[in-house]
Amino acid sequence: MRIGIAGAGVLGRLLAWRLSRAGHAVTVFDPAAGPGAPDTGSLSRPSTCAAGFTAAGMLSPVAELDNAGPAIARLGWRSLSLWRGVAEELQAAGCGAVLFAQHGSLMVAHGADLGAARRVLARLESAPALAAELPSPQPLDRAALAELEPALAPGLHAWLLPDEAQVMSRDMLQALAVHTPNVHWCWGERVERVEPRVLHVLGDGAMRFDLVVDVRGVGAQSPARSMAHTSVRTQPVEVKPTIPMQALQHTKGERIDSDAMHGLRGVRGEVIWLHAPGVRLQRPVRLLHPRHRVYIVPRPGDLFVIGASEIESEDRSPVSLRSAVELMAAAHSAIPELAEARIVHMETNLRPALPDNEPHTHFEPGLLRINGLFRHGWLLAPALVEDAIAQLETMSRGPEGPHPPSTSSGQAKPLPQAGEGVSRDRTNAPTERSSLPRPYGERAGVRGSPEPTPETHQNH
Ligand SMILES: Cc1cc2nc3c(=O)[nH]c(=O)nc-3n(C[C@H](O)[C@H](O)[C@H](O)COP(=O)(O)OP(=O)(O)OC[C@H]3O[C@@H](n4cnc5c(N)ncnc54)[C@H](O)[C@@H]3O)c2cc1C
Repeated sequence: MRIGIAGAGVLGRLLAWRLSRAGHAVTVFDPAAGPGAPDTGSLSRPSTCAAGFTAAGMLSPVAELDNAGPAIARLGWRSLSLWRGVAEELQAAGCGAVLFAQHGSLMVAHGADLGAARRVLARLESAPALAAELPSPQPLDRAALAELEPALAPGLHAWLLPDEAQVMSRDMLQALAVHTPNVHWCWGERVERVEPRVLHVLGDGAMRFDLVVDVRGVGAQSPARSMAHTSVRTQPVEVKPTIPMQALQHTKGERIDSDAMHGLRGVRGEVIWLHAPGVRLQRPVRLLHPRHRVYIVPRPGDLFVIGASEIESEDRSPVSLRSAVELMAAAHSAIPELAEARIVHMETNLRPALPDNEPHTHFEPGLLRINGLFRHGWLLAPALVEDAIAQLETMSRGPEGPHPPSTSSGQAKPLPQAGEGVSRDRTNAPTERSSLPRPYGERAGVRGSPEPTPETHQNH
């Protein structure tokens, strides 16, 4: 199949990786200048890069029960082994960077803030089926905590969440683009509108594919709202969901209004990067606090990502003093040795969220949309992608499947524009193959590697 993907964030790159390995001819459009992490935004020119670059990459299905329901926890639990498989395959393909680490995570609370921690534990206990599926948090006494993570303040209440993990978000995004060679990456290309089998690309016109995928995150909002994101607002602007959540249906292939994911909004999040040579932390730590949920995520190179604020605002301007003070004070209270850390980077981005703060997948012939991954995008993406591809297989067997009558050339067909010429063809010359995607965990070579497409193009 010829597949056009709008958006090269977490979902877009994972889908491209998975679909191209299954032998599909994949073209991805994204306004970003290239595959790597962009410069941070400034007051006059806020960054509009993928939220996935800003994310700390925590994979915490149990700890996220503080913010989400059992369905999210289950999807997240499935994703852990899927990410491990992706990382192993990218490394087998030549990626040298550490992409994934799984040493569990810690949930900690100061004595006065035990209520928040107990709520997460109670959520697990109140769902016996879930408690049977996920590993239980293990309470740690003072000595056990000191042995596990000596840098943490003595006196913290702590629970080990075994098997929780982290993805090195920037390196993983980069690796998915660089080590997925059989994809035509169209950087600097903005998709203005998506309809079944057609992507309307700014400056290029309408591009036809067998299937189009809309994974533009916050960029899938109407153009007027997208433009508003690039403006600077010094005051947070409250954005209220306008469409009731029952207007959306999840992932069952029902036909709903395909024009957009209604009520899509951005939720501001801010992170701070510290450099602290000599401070040892093996695993992500989440500090439960009545007002903030602050995590400290160790990264290679003595770096620590401190995050993240969660503000109902679509303001992309730089990190506020208040957020910076609160995040860093909380991190310092958990790891006193961070006092001498150097602040090396601060970043703001918008989490794509729908009115119910849950992910939604929409299918119809020739079109797949996934959005609303909110604060769990890294946690959920592999399971959502796996489910979507399974659904795609089912649909492609039906009469209205994503395959239109096949074209002789195998090239993407330019659509004539009203009163104009035709659009430029930006796809690879693909080889038609009917092979279905392989499970993630499977290493290339076990059942035979997918054949490369005849040409590989890389934009910029
Ligand atoms: C501060 C912060 C911390 C986070 N921490 C975590 C965490 O620890 N764990 C976790 O699981 N999740 C975390 N998240 C959430 C996670 O980053 C998001 O849920 C995830 O990035 C959503 O993935 P996506 O692919 O839908 O969107 P994105 O990653 O935002 O990607 C969307 C892509 O679409 C492109 N695009 C936009 N408009 C257009 C257009 N018109 N045409 C073509 N392309 C377009 C964008 O350039 C971008 O590349 C965090 C988010 C933030 C902001």
